Amino acid sequence: MSEVISNDEKYPKDAKLLDIVTYPDPVLKKIASSVTEFGPELETLCQNMLKTMYHAPGIGLAAPQIGISKRIFVLDVDYNREPLDDEANRHEISDLNPRIFINPVLKDPEGQTTYQEGCLSVPEVFDDVQRHEKITVEYQDVNGNKHEETVEGLLSICIQHENDHLDGIVFIEKLSSLKLNYYRKKLIKEKKRTFSVPDND
Ligand SMILES: [Zn+2]
Repeated sequence: MSEVISNDEKYPKDAKLLDIVTYPDPVLKKIASSVTEFGPELETLCQNMLKTMYHAPGIGLAAPQIGISKRIFVLDVDYNREPLDDEANRHEISDLNPRIFINPVLKDPEGQTTYQEGCLSVPEVFDDVQRHEKITVEYQDVNGNKHEETVEGLLSICIQHENDHLDGIVFIEKLSSLKLNYYRKKLIKEKKRTFSVPDND
């Protein structure tokens, strides 16, 4: 059983935790397909993704990261994560502002910004990535209604990072080829180590 690392039970109450796939899983390289069916199944998937994101904890999660190649991502750049005193690895999560983006399209990029990014599918790697400072995103909500929003700051960076996942791009692929090769080797080595636990019989 996996260790509980965050106090995410409160949201969403009856949602399920999903397994997060890690680089270089092939699903992370695929171009995700558009969502065409809106309904309770989609709603459940999005709630499960939010639960998984808060549990990790992370600020964003795209559907390919849980093995589903669809144009969906969820995020929350506003929540607070406070370590609890009693257990070092538990966190209190508060001030939730869950967001769901279906079939997003990014347009009208403005300016440049650099931010140290990480990714739930690329464990323990953090590096500076260049992004647009400001972006406009067209998207649909879980009911299929269309919206348009112009965003900046961390929300803009997070939307660009998550949208890349829908196009089969992981943030380390935006770094120099030298860095990418270094991280790729490191991650493959790490994966081998994790999956080759010796039997003691
Ligand atoms: Zn990511």
